[in-house]
Amino acid sequence: MDKLRIAIDGPAGAGKSTVAKYVASSLGIHHLDTGSMYRAFGLFALESGVDPTDAAGLAALLPNANIEVTFDDEGAQHVWLNGVDRTADLRTEAVSIASSAVSLLPAVRDKLAALQRAVGEKYSIVMDGRDITTNVLPDTPYKFFVTASVEERARRRIRQLRRLGQEADFAQVKADIIARDRQDSDRAYMPLRRTEDTMLIDTTKISVREAVERILEVISKKE
Ligand code: C5P
Repeated sequence: MDKLRIAIDGPAGAGKSTVAKYVASSLGIHHLDTGSMYRAFGLFALESGVDPTDAAGLAALLPNANIEVTFDDEGAQHVWLNGVDRTADLRTEAVSIASSAVSLLPAVRDKLAALQRAVGEKYSIVMDGRDITTNVLPDTPYKFFVTASVEERARRRIRQLRRLGQEADFAQVKADIIARDRQDSDRAYMPLRRTEDTMLIDTTKISVREAVERILEVISKKE
């Protein structure tokens, strides 16, 4: 049977990784969170003392970055950087900022997109990111754009920070989200875009469960 490939794009904080994870587990296939690969290269730049905004420095570093993805028996994704599993080190604020900066560089995007396509050749997969529907898996019939209003994303982020025991200012969190959106949508190479053949799923007023059900319904109709 042909491999099933499901592409999900959307802005930061829209819940796309959570939606992607549930879609994948419902279908019994893997989930590749492509942002974690940009995070791995961002981490490598930081640890190598290369400024993540230094394009020449990053280009020189890129051939030395051996990034691999594996899935364990529970289906969880592991990201390896030069032979070491760095999955647990990718979620810090410093790595978030570095990953956004390194993702602007075409050579970085091309290398990671090629690795992502190779994962899609090997497994049936749900992939989420910013350029999956437009660049990594443009030919799949299953393309979704998961988004939510800026205000709702800010509220979710604040709830998430509270659970971690941190208080945050709504206006500041909202401004950070707007800035991240702008960086993803305005970059010259492979910006975040919704194409006409990509189904819009707005999670502002619907739950993760409903978003997952809508996606599964589309897939069951086409399969
Ligand atoms: O999704 P996540 O926030 O973990 O992604 C980290 C960074 O990598 C984002 O800021 C985004 O700019 C970048 N990214 C990307 N293309 C992807 C996935 C993530 O540019 N396919």
